[in-house]
Amino acid sequence: MTDTNSSETPASPETYVVVGGGQAGAAAVSAMRAAGFTGRIVLVGGEPHLPYERPPLSKEMLVKPETAHPIIHPAAFYEEKAIDCRFGDAAIGLDVDEMRLDLASGEAIVFDKLLLATGARARPYPLLDQLGVGVHTLRTLDDAEGLRGHIWPGRRMLVVGGGVIGLEVAASGIAMGAKVTVIERADRLMARGAPAPMVEALAALHTAHGVRFELGAEIVEATRTSDGEITLVTSDGRRFVGDLVVYGIGVELAVELAVSAGLKVEDGIVVDECGRTSHPAIFAAGDVARQWYPDLGRHLRLETWANAQNQGTGVGRAMVTGAPIDVEVPWYWTDQYGHNFQVAGSTTADEWLRRGAEGAAKYTLLGLTDGVVTGALTVDNGREMRPLRAMIAARRRVADRAALADPKTDLRKLA
Ligand code: FAD
Ligand code: NDP
Repeated sequence: MTDTNSSETPASPETYVVVGGGQAGAAAVSAMRAAGFTGRIVLVGGEPHLPYERPPLSKEMLVKPETAHPIIHPAAFYEEKAIDCRFGDAAIGLDVDEMRLDLASGEAIVFDKLLLATGARARPYPLLDQLGVGVHTLRTLDDAEGLRGHIWPGRRMLVVGGGVIGLEVAASGIAMGAKVTVIERADRLMARGAPAPMVEALAALHTAHGVRFELGAEIVEATRTSDGEITLVTSDGRRFVGDLVVYGIGVELAVELAVSAGLKVEDGIVVDECGRTSHPAIFAAGDVARQWYPDLGRHLRLETWANAQNQGTGVGRAMVTGAPIDVEVPWYWTDQYGHNFQVAGSTTADEWLRRGAEGAAKYTLLGLTDGVVTGALTVDNGREMRPLRAMIAARRRVADRAALADPKTDLRKLA
């Protein structure tokens, strides 16, 4: 093993290592330099690519790959910022007594501080995986490139899991001319983290485009013939025949290093408001981190682009300055059939107050709980999101419902 620390003479003698070259990792290394850290930064990524954005993978990368630009920064960015990159080389061991990270290549890196931004993998589905050929998951750039070549007009796509991956892939499949059936175990779509009116709107949109939904469907049998036809059978005897299966049934967090190092892990690596784990020199950010929210008085783990970007930036800065992360109201978006849905704050509410006439193409729904704005949904109306997030953060009590419901009222004034 080689200790690479001796090869450079940076201004600060310290070495910060970031494990995970995804959204959070890329944001963190950038923020460390922006906060004035002059020591050595090593970015370790298991995938053989420059850090890239995942949102395009289920959308443009499938339907219009020529318009997709998922790479976050060009290679020159990491050179300019003097980020020592190790892509295609996974971290396989973390020794907290020696403060050393071991890579698959045999390299060992001794660090002063370390950030775990290892994200997640697609949760495996062994019943489907045993079919081998014809079964796809979608988490990485390579997955998207692999999947794209299997969808063409007339292909029968069986999408298992009616969550965000399932619905975005279904919409992309339709745009590519496939015949799509979505098979969901629960009795509703997007059971995790979507306001009920959004689920209704999405279901109507998909149905209008020809997607068939099979809810309450637990697959118990999966077979594939020698000519590639796949049959799925549910516990109540429903049979679905297709040419390919794409499944999205949630994620499995990449917490192995944290667990082996004895860090506190409870559905994510538990961190404080600076992103610090139960070890003072080790931090975590992104999908893998369960962060302390002082205002909520509890920990929260989010699986969204905005959280990975904001937390990666905040923790990268916190590692240098010690300042807590600027907490954002949680939000995410999904794009389906050319429509943009954005969700902020709580996804449940006593009432969803509509801004905009019934039937209008663009609209906003405000989630009210005990007379306070606690959540929001915009449909093709993302320009209202910023003031809505400010209202949610301020726990704005609704003084004038009529003004709030009137799309002519400038939300920035109310916020
Ligand atoms: P990841 O993006 O998972 O990155 C972690 C990286 O760490 C990976 O590259 C992994 O290989 C690497 N790694 C793991 N273990 C090791 C190790 N031991 N050594 C080295 N490297 C390691 N969110 C939205 O808000 N809107 C969207 O429209 C949206 N669309 C999405 C579409 C798809 C197809 C997917 C998969 C996700 C989407 N998301 C979306 C969610 C969003 O992309 C994720 O929340 C975000 O990517 C999380 O970033 P992260 O850096 O925490 O983790
Ligand atoms: P989700 O957790 O969003 O959805 C998974 C869905 O699959 C759930 O509805 C779940 O239902 C269902 N499911 C679980 N097991 C089965 C089963 N055996 N048979 C049928 N259905 C089943 O995860 P996804 O896989 O959709 O997404 C993975 C990750 O990618 C998430 O982190 C997500 O945030 C991210 N992503 C985000 C996007 C966005 O924000 N626009 C777009 C694409 C991905 P149940 O509740 O019953 O388990």
